[in-house]
Amino acid sequence: MVPVSIEKFATLHMKHNPKESKKNLIESLEAAVSAKENGACCGQCGQPIWAVGTAIAGWNSCFTCLTGEADHSDDYEIDQVC
Ligand SMILES: [Zn+2]
Repeated sequence: MVPVSIEKFATLHMKHNPKESKKNLIESLEAAVSAKENGACCGQCGQPIWAVGTAIAGWNSCFTCLTGEADHSDDYEIDQVC
């Protein structure tokens, strides 16, 4: 995964989703990062969660369950938990 800071990811996400609240997104990202640091697992398969996906989807999810893809080399993850 490509490490990115919460602030940078939020800025990128807002470019594509200008109607969403950046403040809410940052709060969700911070919550997902702490959940991952505390060992949260995917609600479907039990793998470690993907903090970015969890923040956006709103449930504890790993990359594969959320996207249906196995290759996450081009996708972002928050640097603290990457
Ligand atoms: Zn999963």
